[in-house]
Amino acid sequence: MKIRAVRGTRDILPDEIPAWQTLERAAHGLLGRYGYREIRTPVFEETELFARGIGAETDIVTKEMYTFDDRDGSSLTLRPEATAGIVRAVIEHNLMNTDPALKVYALGPMFRRERPQKGRYRQFHQLDVEAFGLTSPTIDAEMIEVAVAYLEACGVRQHQLVLNSVGDQHCRPAYVETLRTALREHAPSMCGDCQRRAETNPLRVLDCKVPDDQKMIEGLPKITGHLCADCRDHFAEVCRQLKLLGIPYRLSHRLVRGLDYYVRTTFEILSGELGAQNSVLGGGRYDGLVRDLGGPEVAGTGFAVGLERLALLMPAGESEGRCDVFLAPLTSEALDPALVLQRDLRQAGVRAMLDPEGRSFKSRMKQADKLGARFVAILGDDEAARGVWTIRDMERSEQEDVPEGRILEHLKEKTNG
Ligand code: ATP
Ligand code: MG
Repeated sequence: MKIRAVRGTRDILPDEIPAWQTLERAAHGLLGRYGYREIRTPVFEETELFARGIGAETDIVTKEMYTFDDRDGSSLTLRPEATAGIVRAVIEHNLMNTDPALKVYALGPMFRRERPQKGRYRQFHQLDVEAFGLTSPTIDAEMIEVAVAYLEACGVRQHQLVLNSVGDQHCRPAYVETLRTALREHAPSMCGDCQRRAETNPLRVLDCKVPDDQKMIEGLPKITGHLCADCRDHFAEVCRQLKLLGIPYRLSHRLVRGLDYYVRTTFEILSGELGAQNSVLGGGRYDGLVRDLGGPEVAGTGFAVGLERLALLMPAGESEGRCDVFLAPLTSEALDPALVLQRDLRQAGVRAMLDPEGRSFKSRMKQADKLGARFVAILGDDEAARGVWTIRDMERSEQEDVPEGRILEHLKEKTNG
C-alpha cells in the first residue's frame, strides 16, 4: 500500500520554497523595523491552555482541536493558533517585567481538524504578531498598519481591510443579552448551528455564512449602537489614525471573529482572489487574555496571517538559476582538480556543481543549462595538455582558455564570488 500525506496536510515542495522564503524574510525584515522580536513556542501545549485561552464554546475548541492523551494520562493538544502559547510563555518567563511594551512575532505550523479544501488545511502555517502592555488606540492602528505593510512587502496588492469594534466587559454583556433576546424570536427558522450559538455564544451568529440566515442576521441589533463611551472613543481614534496613515478600510458590524478573547478592535483582511476562503489575516485587541490565563493585567493586540493563503496571493517570482559554475571534468584524471576547484569556489561563495556520474559531454551541457549555470568549466585531455581550463560563457555563447593557476580568481571575478 502506498503511504500518502495525511488528509489536510501538504508538502511544500522545492519549487514553492522561494515564495515561502520571501514571506519569511519579509516578516523578519519588516517586523524588526517596527520593534518586534521573534519568539518560538512548542507546537503542543496542555489542552487546558486552549480551552481557557480560546474559549470553550468556540468552533476551534469544540470541533477542531487535535487532542490526545499523553502516556502519563495528561491531555495535550497540537496548537490550533499561536496566541495562547505565546501568552503562556510571556507569563511563565515574566517577560512583561523586563519589557513593559513587549512586541513579539512567531512563525510556524498550526493544527485544526477542519474540512480540507483550497486554502484550508489541517496543518497550516501562520505568522503571528502580538504586542502586550499597550492600551492606546495607536497600537491598534499600528497593528493594522503592520498587517497591511506586510502584505504589500510580499507583493500582494489586492486586499480589503474590514474593521469593527466588539465592545468590552462594560458594554458587550448588555449587547449580548439584547442579541439573545432578539434571536429567540427567530430561533425556529435559524440553522442548527445558530440555534445552538443563540444560547451559548450569540455573537457567533453574526458570522454565520448560511445563505438562508443572512436576511435575519442583517435585521439584528448592531453592536455599533451599543458601545460604551470609552469603546466608542477608542474606536473613533483607531479609525482617525488609519485615515491619517492613508489606510482604507470598510466597517462591518458583523466582524466578531472566531475567538472569544477579542475586545474592542477586530479586523480582517480579505482578498477576492482566494475564493471561498477569502480571509488572509485576522486579529484585534484581547486585553483580558493574559489575566485569564493567570498572568498580570496587561493589554494585548495582535493578528495572524495564514501563510498558505498568502503564498497563493504572491506574484510568481522569476525562477532563479541554481548554479554559477558547472564543472565538467571529462577524464578520470580531471576529477581531482575539479573536486578541489569545486570546494574552493563554494568556499568563496560561488555556487558550483559538477556531475559526479561522469555522463557524456552532451548530457552534462544539458544539465548545466537546466541548472541555469552561467559558466561551464571544462577540463579534458586537450586542456590538461595545455595547462588550461576552457570556460564557456553560457549567456554569451563564448568560450576562452584560462590558465590553471588563474582559474579560481578568474571564476570568482566573473561571478562576483
Ligand atoms: P476562516 O474564517 O478562514 O476559518 P479563521 O477566522 O478561523 O479563518 P484565524 O483563526 O483568525 O482564522 O486565523 C488567521 C488566519 O489563518 C486566517 O485568516 C487564515 O488565513 C488562516 N487559517 C485559518 N484556518 C486555516 C486553515 N484551516 N487552513 C489554512 N489557513 C487557515
Ligand atoms: Mg476557521
